[in-house]
Amino acid sequence: MSSALPFAVCRLQGSVPGPRTVVFGGTHGNETTGVSVVKNVLEALGLPSNPPAGTHVVDGVRGALYFGIGNPSAVARGTRGAGGPRDLNRCFHESFFSDPQAMASPDERRAAELADLLASADYFFDLHSVSAPNARPFVGITTRTSRHDAICASLPVSIVLDVNRVLGRDVGIDDPAIDQTPTTCSWVNRHGGVGLCYEMGSQDDLDSVPRATRDLLRLLEACGSVDHAFSERIGVPDLSLPTADAPANYRLTHCERNRFKGFQFAEERFTKSWTPVKKGDAIGRYEDGEIVRAPDDGLLAFPAGVHTLSRNPSLFYLAKQEEKTPRDRRGARTSA
Ligand SMILES: [Zn+2]
Repeated sequence: MSSALPFAVCRLQGSVPGPRTVVFGGTHGNETTGVSVVKNVLEALGLPSNPPAGTHVVDGVRGALYFGIGNPSAVARGTRGAGGPRDLNRCFHESFFSDPQAMASPDERRAAELADLLASADYFFDLHSVSAPNARPFVGITTRTSRHDAICASLPVSIVLDVNRVLGRDVGIDDPAIDQTPTTCSWVNRHGGVGLCYEMGSQDDLDSVPRATRDLLRLLEACGSVDHAFSERIGVPDLSLPTADAPANYRLTHCERNRFKGFQFAEERFTKSWTPVKKGDAIGRYEDGEIVRAPDDGLLAFPAGVHTLSRNPSLFYLAKQEEKTPRDRRGARTSA
């Protein structure tokens, strides 16, 4: 692979062998807490952070550790994407890279700049946040293997959510040929790495920055990218905080599409992620009286913010709990 770095990405080079690990904040440009985590780590090391750039030999790093801003144009605009029809985190699919019309989008061009780096990563941690207040941190994945489980066990989160296939439908990616939600992480996973999206919590929760920095350092130690002395140099408090119980695994199974008929949630609890629901529960109703019900038992996920109901293509998602054992340990499967 060429040694040229994409714009707004730096490489911390270890003096001992180790994995190739990539960390991004700002894959969604309006999620600035992840950008703060990346900047804080680089500033603590005395390295350029605005933007991250260059290759630096750093004590305590093993292998190569990349820090970057996922979508710098979107960060500069303060918007989720850089203006294309799909934001960067929905751009990672081979069919888009070979489509000249798709490549006209600034988000798709940024994806193409990052594609080789992410394809070569052993580990990739993408830092995101949500707009809903009081949101619990969780991990999003698109492939679940024992390697994903091992890494997630080092994090104090209660939910690991497999978003594959279902999440992309909110941007109209319904093409059966696109069998993965085309996220940064799914691109890493499809090229043999372990990619996960760490949802740090609410965008306006300033405590999420030191908390996510601490959790990121745990991830980096767990995957062998840094030693503990490196983490101590960054100087985040509570580094030895005990981990929570092993997180529970869920999978998105349903996206409730908005039919734009004046939907309102029936109860306040349905406006929050991770509310348990039973099949048939009336989640809300349209102005014409049509009731929208939970299609199954599970947890309600990503309800549309009440101020976005007139334009958000999805109303809510449903997540079902998964088996304890990841797919690669269940033995041969006879059907898909
Ligand atoms: Zn995001």
